[in-house]
Amino acid sequence: MTKVLLTGGAGFIGSHTGLTLLESGHQVVVVDDFSNGSAEAMRRVAELAGLGPWRQASTEHWTAADPEGGRLTLIRGDVRSPQDLDRAFTVDGGDISAVLHFAGLKAVGESMTQPLRYWDVNVTGTVRLLEAMGRHGCQTLVFSSSATLYGTTDQVPIPETAPLQPINPYGYTKAAVERLLTDVAASAPGWRIALLRYFNPVGAHPSGRIGEDPNGLPNNLFPFLCQVAAGRRRHLQVFGGDWPTPDGTGVRDYLHVMDLAEGHGRALDLLLAEPPQRLTLNLGSGRGHSVLEVVQTFEATNGLRLPYTVVARRPGDSAVSVADPREAERRMGWRTRRSLADICRDGWAWQSANPQGYRSAEKEPIGELIRAQHGS
Ligand code: UDP
Repeated sequence: MTKVLLTGGAGFIGSHTGLTLLESGHQVVVVDDFSNGSAEAMRRVAELAGLGPWRQASTEHWTAADPEGGRLTLIRGDVRSPQDLDRAFTVDGGDISAVLHFAGLKAVGESMTQPLRYWDVNVTGTVRLLEAMGRHGCQTLVFSSSATLYGTTDQVPIPETAPLQPINPYGYTKAAVERLLTDVAASAPGWRIALLRYFNPVGAHPSGRIGEDPNGLPNNLFPFLCQVAAGRRRHLQVFGGDWPTPDGTGVRDYLHVMDLAEGHGRALDLLLAEPPQRLTLNLGSGRGHSVLEVVQTFEATNGLRLPYTVVARRPGDSAVSVADPREAERRMGWRTRRSLADICRDGWAWQSANPQGYRSAEKEPIGELIRAQHGS
């Protein structure tokens, strides 16, 4: 049984990946500061994986386990803190085989007004993590990169070899971390590193128990549209009806978060099975859908009407962004299996069952939340 550390494992992609890894027999340690992740998400991941009850081992450390050796450990901590990282690497006897590094800030607009915060959390956080990996003898890392690195290219679809030309501080920090990891991989033998460039991860676990729960006003189309459907927002604004696309609205490559989670599992298995290497892979479906197609598919799948108005283009957007995902299929036999209709069905199952996301439960301190749930 392999033990892996997930930084930011209580967030949207980390929680779904954590569940996938637990279900495939890994032990999972999560370190998260809960700035954009949720203890309630962790509680539900444990529940879906059949783990429990939770036990509190220290003020900042909880574990849910099963008799067969399944184990999810949660540590409240910051990736910029060497002490918090040391705790994550040594908890329950240590021996972390690999790190999946999800922790980071990801709102483009916010990155333009708070660049220092983005460089600090995303870049300094990764430096601190690599130092901790050095102290604890771990050289296997899967990094959450982004198709934002390709900027506003006209290339369709986009292969991994396309030029990197990010256009905002968020994108610059992702590019900087890719560069940093490339330098680290070249500096010493033994590093196994996967840079996974996500396109547009959306949807939710089909149970409707875990999903995306953005802080404040969602920046992205899919969570915004879910909140319109749930009555939390009055209507959707479609950014631009005059793009050079078949219906004039922007085209993106939306992939189901469970496909993305499985992609992480494959990348991890491959890194651990093969000789040391650095791998750069697009994770996308290879299919593009326009904003109006997403709206129509959501309406048709869920029997709802979504009010929208077409407004001006959003600065920094491009007409089309679609992955060439063939390298991921060639290297690790991975491709997306779920359709846009699956995404809309599962996304709505989550949003309709949790119209306020995890929020009501999140008001509780994490220890209280876990104690309240399990009565221990
Ligand atoms: N979009 C939109 N209204 C929104 C949010 C996004 O029309 O409220 C459009 C956006 O212009 C783009 C697509 O939806 O064409 C996906 O945007 P998102 O922010 O989700 O992802 P990204 O732009 O990062 O690919």
